[in-house]
Amino acid sequence: MDLQEPLHSGIVGQDYAQRMLANTIKRKRVPHAILLWGPVGTGKLSLAWSYAAALNCTGRGESVSACGSCPSCHAIATQNHPDVRLTEPDGQYIKIDQIRDVIEAVSYRSYFGGWKVWILRHADRMRDEAANSLLRVLEDPPAGTVFLLTAENLYSMLPTVISRCRLVRFNPVPQREIESLLIDRRGVPPEKARLLSVLCGGSVGAALEACSDESLEDERVALIQGIRDLAGKPVWEVLDASARVGDGAKRASLDRSLRILECWYRDLLVYRTTRGEDSIANLDMLDQIRSDAKKCSVADLLTRLKGISEARMQLAANANAGLVMDNLFMTLVTSD
Ligand SMILES: [Zn+2]
Repeated sequence: MDLQEPLHSGIVGQDYAQRMLANTIKRKRVPHAILLWGPVGTGKLSLAWSYAAALNCTGRGESVSACGSCPSCHAIATQNHPDVRLTEPDGQYIKIDQIRDVIEAVSYRSYFGGWKVWILRHADRMRDEAANSLLRVLEDPPAGTVFLLTAENLYSMLPTVISRCRLVRFNPVPQREIESLLIDRRGVPPEKARLLSVLCGGSVGAALEACSDESLEDERVALIQGIRDLAGKPVWEVLDASARVGDGAKRASLDRSLRILECWYRDLLVYRTTRGEDSIANLDMLDQIRSDAKKCSVADLLTRLKGISEARMQLAANANAGLVMDNLFMTLVTSD
């Protein structure tokens, strides 16, 4: 976290969330619970820390941004502020004992005399027992306390917890903004920045991680080449290939395979409809794109993209990954 940056400028593409939080400070109407909700890697945790810093900063004057140099800002930057704390899942879930500790800690006075801020990261990973316990403190919050919950998936949270929070939605970050960030701040070459910004699905976190992930490159080329080679092959070979991708794969790796495939068919569709190369992501495979785009109709490509998005929804609903990938591969290879 860089507290020198204005409360919000360190985060890309979240104007709405930034404005909303800044307004609570400007108007001196700070909610007792805020739920920062949106896709992974969009800056929810960073913004929570910046907000906690701004609330407690003693050097910011009329500004809504933390000064970065007062004692409170220093303590937050080193995660040593006694009144600003973070709880995240211990293992897969936030446990009820962790919530009990939070409840006890917020019952004491603030140490520095400012706001007590409790960040609950991954608040969607809480079983009902823990969530109900949290609910009780949200219903009767101690004065001067702010709970900042972050979550990706509202559907796995108790509706009663959600209704006690001010909702701040984070959107997937636009591809062009991620592309510029990778070039300007990370020095990624433009061609690679374009590809990663498309592959990361709107997550700055995923794009930054992908910068240093050598295996992504090999996986992308192997997967795309593998699908191309399956054209005209018998069904058993198609299912064999889908099993190699789907069987035993973790959710994150399946998501990644789907993004690679989506990016590929999107490139074919763009080239098929515009003949332009300006927004092609897989620029290193331009020859293959030119040749494949000629062989597919727009309707075929749309069917394949729809197949990928259906597969993603089925996986999100915990469908059997092997079956989902079998269906998808059949759609991708045989929809000519
Ligand atoms: Zn400060």
